[in-house]
Amino acid sequence: MDACCDDPDYDYAASIAGRAMRSMAEQGIPPTPTNFAIWFQYFAGGQDDLRNAIDLLIDHNRPFDSKTNQNLFETYIAPKVSAVVTSTSERLHGLMGAAKEFLTTAIADNHSQMQAISEVADQGKSGVDPKALVAQLMNELARAATRATRLEAGFAEKARELDVIRDSLSKSEERARTDTLTGLANRRALDEFLRKAQATADWGEPLSVLLIDIDHFKTFNDSFGHGVGDQVLRLMARVLREKVGAQDLPARYGGEELIAVLPGADLAACTETAERIRRAIAESKITRRSTGEVLPNITISIGVAQYRSGEAIADFIERCDRALYLAKGGGRNRVVTEIELDRADAAS
Ligand code: GH3
Ligand code: MG
Ligand code: MG
Repeated sequence: MDACCDDPDYDYAASIAGRAMRSMAEQGIPPTPTNFAIWFQYFAGGQDDLRNAIDLLIDHNRPFDSKTNQNLFETYIAPKVSAVVTSTSERLHGLMGAAKEFLTTAIADNHSQMQAISEVADQGKSGVDPKALVAQLMNELARAATRATRLEAGFAEKARELDVIRDSLSKSEERARTDTLTGLANRRALDEFLRKAQATADWGEPLSVLLIDIDHFKTFNDSFGHGVGDQVLRLMARVLREKVGAQDLPARYGGEELIAVLPGADLAACTETAERIRRAIAESKITRRSTGEVLPNITISIGVAQYRSGEAIADFIERCDRALYLAKGGGRNRVVTEIELDRADAAS
């Protein structure tokens, strides 16, 4: 519904950026890229250690001089950017070195064992007592087994380290696909999911989406604060997650807009889900966490559309967005499908 620009995150990011710039100006902090990164992160939330550090400085009336600003950046922002990349590549480098060393040792061991065994075998030709020969062979093989066990243990340990690295990589990959405020899939994950779903839908499987926009959310934010607004977004995410199926993808589409992609669902099935979501939100009781005060009910408007084989994803979503726009025009707190879009077009 935010028709101002292509990126629906624009409004939200712009409002955070505005708060960051205002706050920096009020405190006489130079608007450099690193200072901006600190204050943007502060207002965007989600990083408690940074918030606590800044709140503490404010509480104690400490100036945000260049040293403090640099400290904040180096302590809370820079490590986040480089931590995963640096630590993972350093650890991988170390493991590669260790693996190379193991292999070199294993090959060298193998050579010397073969040598020793062939020397023993040569003695066999020159008529040495077979009993002594067997004993010698047993001896060589036992030494080989001990070395192999040692090497194997070393390899097992390195394999465990690799597991840890793989785990941390998949976690950071997961973070890159998750919206920090709601924990839902972000735009990147959504685009990927839609592309895959489109491939199946082009074979004839139905595919539908529902696009949600909170009604009068600006007024709500203005009355109760952005923090309470965030709480509402998290509640919406929870309801959305509960109401869609395991094969569906609930995601954050933009600032206050959530979306769910329902592979296998036709327009009617998707509309039913949308209606269940709408009702659940309208019936939710929202209380201000700090005071327990009961806040006015929140409602949402939802647009629903079904994919048409061969069309571009952008056209599909745009149709859903237009249905959502109709829902707003029709009085909000309602679900409108693309069928009504055709009716509205015919009427005009
Ligand atoms: P409508 O019923 O027509 O949708 O009215 P609205 O006020 O919801 O629409 P508008 O697009 O004017 O305002 C959207 C608001 O959503 C403004 C913005 O501050 C708020 N918003 C967007 N993202 C977030 C967020 O992450 N947290 C909070 N608290 N508010 C957000
Ligand atoms: Mg909106
Ligand atoms: Mg809205």
